[in-house]
Amino acid sequence: MTDYRRLRVALLGAGAVGSQVAGLLRQHGDELADRAGATLELVGIAVRDIDAPREVDLPRELLTTDAESLIIGADIVIELMGGIEPARTHILQAINSGADVVTANKALLATHGPEIFDAADQVGAEVYYEAAAAGAIPIIRPLRDSLAGDRVQRIMGIVNGTTNYILDRMDTEGADFADVLADAQRLGYAESDPTADVEGYDAAQKAAILASLAFHTTVPLDAVHREGITAIDKAMMDAARHAGYVIKLLAVCERLTGEASEESISVRVYPALIDRAHPLASVHGANNAVFVQAEAAGNLMFYGAGAGGVQTASAVLGDVVSAARRHIAGGVGVGESTLANLPIVPVGRVTTRYQITLEVDDRPGVLATVAGILSDGRVSIATLEQTVVGSDESGVARLVIGTHKALEQDLSETVDRLAASGVVERVVSVLRVEGD
Ligand code: NAP
Repeated sequence: MTDYRRLRVALLGAGAVGSQVAGLLRQHGDELADRAGATLELVGIAVRDIDAPREVDLPRELLTTDAESLIIGADIVIELMGGIEPARTHILQAINSGADVVTANKALLATHGPEIFDAADQVGAEVYYEAAAAGAIPIIRPLRDSLAGDRVQRIMGIVNGTTNYILDRMDTEGADFADVLADAQRLGYAESDPTADVEGYDAAQKAAILASLAFHTTVPLDAVHREGITAIDKAMMDAARHAGYVIKLLAVCERLTGEASEESISVRVYPALIDRAHPLASVHGANNAVFVQAEAAGNLMFYGAGAGGVQTASAVLGDVVSAARRHIAGGVGVGESTLANLPIVPVGRVTTRYQITLEVDDRPGVLATVAGILSDGRVSIATLEQTVVGSDESGVARLVIGTHKALEQDLSETVDRLAASGVVERVVSVLRVEGD
């Protein structure tokens, strides 16, 4: 066995991901040492409760509730506690005591990323976070390194497995949102409080991280427009299917070019229609995928498990090997690039295609009124389908209007005008169409 330099590794957290990281570090220690060029010595694991049951058998003597003492003298600190505090304080402590940090903590990076990256920059340390955006899927390194010589134009990601599982079952089985959510909770795909997933908060955190990297810009979480999937119902799913689309919760990060070719970016999370022929439409179950459009590389798609303890541990260990190699080679960390710091535009200034579904009075002249309101609002019709709701005598028709690209602000003002027009009984849904 090669006599490598020993690097002290401190692990904070031994939950779903941390316990798997500890298990794999111990199981594949020799192989990882050969890849890293250093022996990775797990010096301790900080937890809240030493006696809590663990998914992986871990030597009791490695467990401690004293995270601070563990960090002192560590070369690499792996933070897998989650949440903001005490994770933030521990990471800053690790950086300031000369360690490199590996974390999967999207909530922390999306809210305190700049503080953490600045602290690392000041001492030449590196922060690795491959597992923070889409679990096991390698997407951070491709954006940070592989595409560093290209210009990313757009990212569309299915980055939340729970919502994809729910929407996929609603689409394929015609099931109701509430029933599938209850099933997802029973099967462990959704938390007992599903807010972070179904309201799009988790996806928004990942969108902020991906957009920051892709556009070399600091993207604060509150600059990410966010909508969840709780309003999606069976009727919307059926209408989407009928029109050749599928509804997915998408994180869209886009580079925009203005009239004077000045650039800005838009970062948004919402349920959107995508054509069934688009690669993202075939992402089923709890899987994740990130579709990247780059100027020179063209279209790239990254697909796989966006969560899961052992899957996420794979991404974490890849970071640990990178951190070890850097520690051995020496030199300062590359740091985060915020060189461009492009302005971030609100969603109202984004142009997208839409599908508007209305229930209207089924009488002569109504179609002309609707068309007039759309035209006055600078929303141009691309397709229109009219069907009778219920029996011929119901007096209600359903209009499904596909638009050309329109400004979000124009569109929402126009929909308000339609709703107040007196000919529209009900605005059934307004969904963006993505993926052109
Ligand atoms: P988890 O199962 O809740 O585990 C958290 C671990 O941290 C537990 O071992 C807990 O100790 C420990 N911990 C929490 N607060 C602590 C404190 N104040 N002091 C000491 N230890 C503390 O979490 P997880 O699912 O492994 O997730 C860890 C991180 O990975 C999170 O940032 C998460 O967002 C991210 N992530 C998770 C997944 C996934 O599939 N689970 C995927 C991608 C990213 P006890 O065990 O004693 O309670």
